[in-house]
Amino acid sequence: MDCLFCKIINGEIPSAKVYDDEFVYAFKDIAPIAPVHYLVIPKQHICCANEIDETNSAVVAKVFEAVSKIAKAENIESYRLINNCGDDAGQTVKHLHFHMIAGVKMGWGPESLGKTE
Ligand code: 5GP
Ligand code: ZN
Repeated sequence: MDCLFCKIINGEIPSAKVYDDEFVYAFKDIAPIAPVHYLVIPKQHICCANEIDETNSAVVAKVFEAVSKIAKAENIESYRLINNCGDDAGQTVKHLHFHMIAGVKMGWGPESLGKTE
C-alpha cells in the first residue's frame, strides 16, 4: 500500500522512534510545532478516525495506552492530543495518527481554528 506512515512502520522510510510495541509506533514529527511533537499511530492501516469501528477499535485503545506510557516515561505532565480527520481538518496523511504536543503553553479558542473575527 502506498502509505507514508505504513512505510515508516516497516522501516522503508526512516523516523526518530519514540515508542514501539506490537500494535503501536510513535515517532517525532518531521516538522514540529512545539518542543515535543510526536505522532502516535496504530501499526494497522486505518485511514482516519471515521474508519474506526467495532473491528478495529481495540487497536485504537492500544494507541491511547501507548500515549499514557510515553507521557509517563518522558515525564510529560501536560500535553495535547490532536487528531485531524479529513481534508478540512488538515489531515494530510491518510493513516490514523494522533499528534502528541507538549512543552509549550497552549491556548484554546477561535484563534486555534485560524479565525480572526
Ligand atoms: P496531519 O496534517 O495529517 O494531521 O499530520 C501529518 C503530520 O505528519 C504532519 O505534522 C507532518 O509534519 C508529519 N510528517 C509528514 N511527513 C513526515 C515524514 O516523512 N516523517 C515524519 N516524521 N513526519 C512526517
Ligand atoms: Zn498506512
